[in-house]
Amino acid sequence: MYAYEANQDLLKEKVILITGAGDGIGKTLALSYAKHGATVILTGRTVAKLERVYDEIEQKGFPQPAIIPLNLEGASETDYLKISEVIENEFGQLDGLVLNAAILGSLTSVEQYEAEVWQQVMQVNVNSSFLLTKALLPTLQKAKHASVIFTTSSVGRKGRAFWGAYAVSKFACEGMAQVLAHELEEKDHTGIRVNTINPGATRTNMRANAYPAENPMSHPAPGDIMPLYLYLMGNDSIGTTGQSLDAQG
Ligand code: NDP
Repeated sequence: MYAYEANQDLLKEKVILITGAGDGIGKTLALSYAKHGATVILTGRTVAKLERVYDEIEQKGFPQPAIIPLNLEGASETDYLKISEVIENEFGQLDGLVLNAAILGSLTSVEQYEAEVWQQVMQVNVNSSFLLTKALLPTLQKAKHASVIFTTSSVGRKGRAFWGAYAVSKFACEGMAQVLAHELEEKDHTGIRVNTINPGATRTNMRANAYPAENPMSHPAPGDIMPLYLYLMGNDSIGTTGQSLDAQG
């Protein structure tokens, strides 16, 4: 596991948006960031799940979160601009963005891959990250030390048979992060760092769908992989940008 011990107040006074915050790694991330003092903006497509995360954060006495329903498959550029406007109006700041939501699509050969599913995976896993990041950059640029985290995968660093659009989408996210990190580094007054995290095999619905026959308990729970997510979001990682890192070390 990535070794990092986060200070309790690491994310105090930071406002952080997480996509896919209703389940799996995104849910744990929301709770963990809130526990370390952040105001988290929960986005996702299933509002009931976001509400449960919201309630848990409130019950624990962490900073009051916010919910912005967002289906990454259908959202248009205008919808993303509206989100940026809401964040400007409600919070006046954004210090962090975690592009976490993704779908698996089909696990099949390129030859057999349905074009419609391919497009859907690219829309949710790649195009939405471009549109959301683009819309939020002006607000992120106003923060002193903003951090953007893309979530990738081992199959987005080395291709593997039958992982189709999912693998290709994760390569694209690695590429987008590098392009963005380079652009923002050149204008280093912006102070936005951009990195990718490969969570590694983690006990979530997505993992269970990809490997239905395996014992879920053989992998770490989302809570176990938080140290790298905390490190990259907090100010201890200032100066770290353009890196592809592994949450499980
Ligand atoms: P889950 O499937 O458990 O959670 C994914 C989240 O994304 C859910 O909250 C889901 O919402 C949301 N989501 C899916 N589609 C959309 C959409 N169209 N609009 C908005 N939100 C959407 O996945 P994990 O937690 O396992 O994965 C999190 C990230 O980690 C992903 O990027 C994944 O690729 C990556 N990853 C995971 C690994 C693992 O072993 N778990 C390994 C390597 C990478 P809803 O709950 O409503 O469906």
